[in-house]
Amino acid sequence: MIDVLVIGGGNAALCAALTAREGGASVMLLESAPPEWRGGNSIHTRNIRCMHDAPQDVLEDAYPEEEFWQDLLKVTGGITDEHLARTVIRDSSFCRTWMRKHGVHFQPSLAGTLHLSRTNAFFMGGGKALVNAYYRSCERLGIAVRYNAPVDRLEVENGRFIAAWVKGERIAARACVLACGGFESNREWLREAWGQNERGEWPSDNFLIRGTRFNQGVLLKDMMAHGADIIGDPSQSHCVAIDARAPAYDGGICTRVDAVSLGVMVNRDAQRFYDEGEDFWPKRYAIWGRLVAQQPGQIGYCIIDSKAVGRFMPPVFPGVKANSLPELARGLGLPEEAFMATLNAYNAACRIGTFDHTVLDDCHTEGVTPAKTHWARPIDTGPFYGYALRPGITFTYLGLKSNDRAQVYFKGQPSDNLFAAGEISAGNVLGKGYTAGVGMTIGTAFGRIAGFQAAAAIQGRVVPAAYVEEGEHAVA
Ligand SMILES: Cc1cc2nc3c(=O)[nH]c(=O)nc-3n(C[C@H](O)[C@H](O)[C@H](O)COP(=O)(O)OP(=O)(O)OC[C@H]3O[C@@H](n4cnc5c(N)ncnc54)[C@H](O)[C@@H]3O)c2cc1C
Repeated sequence: MIDVLVIGGGNAALCAALTAREGGASVMLLESAPPEWRGGNSIHTRNIRCMHDAPQDVLEDAYPEEEFWQDLLKVTGGITDEHLARTVIRDSSFCRTWMRKHGVHFQPSLAGTLHLSRTNAFFMGGGKALVNAYYRSCERLGIAVRYNAPVDRLEVENGRFIAAWVKGERIAARACVLACGGFESNREWLREAWGQNERGEWPSDNFLIRGTRFNQGVLLKDMMAHGADIIGDPSQSHCVAIDARAPAYDGGICTRVDAVSLGVMVNRDAQRFYDEGEDFWPKRYAIWGRLVAQQPGQIGYCIIDSKAVGRFMPPVFPGVKANSLPELARGLGLPEEAFMATLNAYNAACRIGTFDHTVLDDCHTEGVTPAKTHWARPIDTGPFYGYALRPGITFTYLGLKSNDRAQVYFKGQPSDNLFAAGEISAGNVLGKGYTAGVGMTIGTAFGRIAGFQAAAAIQGRVVPAAYVEEGEHAVA
């Protein structure tokens, strides 16, 4: 019988599989995707948020534990578990040594992107290179990897894992790590979570999924049926406004349009609906998906003029271009009269101070609702550009309750051989909100903890919860 069965094929699963193998266990990894689509959402990532007390290779300055914790506290609005969060934060101070050992390379952030050079280490070649390096390491260490292996249910007895079922085949193991992501790709479940709005629309039908189509939440649902303890709100997700022309799945980061704070956003009735200049874009981009989801038809239009061009990362798809605002309205299919009324009211309300996109400047509006509180300049210099945007879901937050050993809970009791890592349990640390790079921090920390604990569990060893130093684990 296999010692440790790891279910999932992204960052958390790979970290768990490698660590369990290093701990002396025989390991099998089941990935529902075919080899060419392996790696889940992790292939789309670019960086990991890391604590450090002094400059560290690609990371500038310092990013101490307390600052990381305060950032997490702020974005989650307190919906986090401090002990688990600090476990993750501390792991991030040394996990890169282990990552390097398995072939991951790092590079500094590119200048002028999201001001992350102090806090986030970027993967050379992105998440795809990271995932490929881990799969190579799995092969080298003799981990059995099976693709096209979607697990549809688990056998669980009294909180203990017994076996997993894949297309009618029963696979038994002494311990199991669930690292099979959230449920963001499951259209029916999204419908259930978002419901129907007052206009009779099912908003989630218009959502685009930024990552893999394979995160269907099948085992999250199965675990709910087994009575596992659940945390989080099913309608909470990381949701960004992305180019409406993005594919239904796997559009990745290149479908983002980062021009909102430089212009205005209108809905399909050509009405503005939120302060586009509330705060810096990296702090606000993740609220716009939800804002657009609340608009009729779940669509928004970002409108800029030529003064904005060159001040944001150029989107992959060109916008609709026009030499006048009425022409732009027609090009975007928006009601021309209402569009001109909105744009004229906004332009007249702009109080231009000293425009500076790198600070919360004093360019603001007066007398329009909603106000634009920073970077408000009239949209008056052609050519004009418009981008249709839709909600793009990154991942969902609903998950399995787990502890600092990554053990899954059943009716308040931790399982002694069933563990969880990555998005399927990230809600323990990140109940809502987001701070760039923390998804990989959580998955790497708990993936390694889960793998380590699973290997120890099958050997009957009792080990303390957290890591003590670089790549080493305390053994009681
Ligand atoms: C476009 C985009 C950009 C992102 N950028 C960043 C970033 O730069 N930094 C960051 O920290 N985070 C980023 N994230 C978030 C990050 O991707 C996740 O936090 C992280 O990848 C989660 O890892 P995971 O292993 O839990 O899930 P995933 O990587 O999604 O892996 C889940 C795996 O489970 C498999 N699976 C699902 N169901 C089953 C089943 N029933 N049986 C078998 N296998 C199954 C899937 O095929 C997949 O391989 C980004 C996400 C997206 C979509």
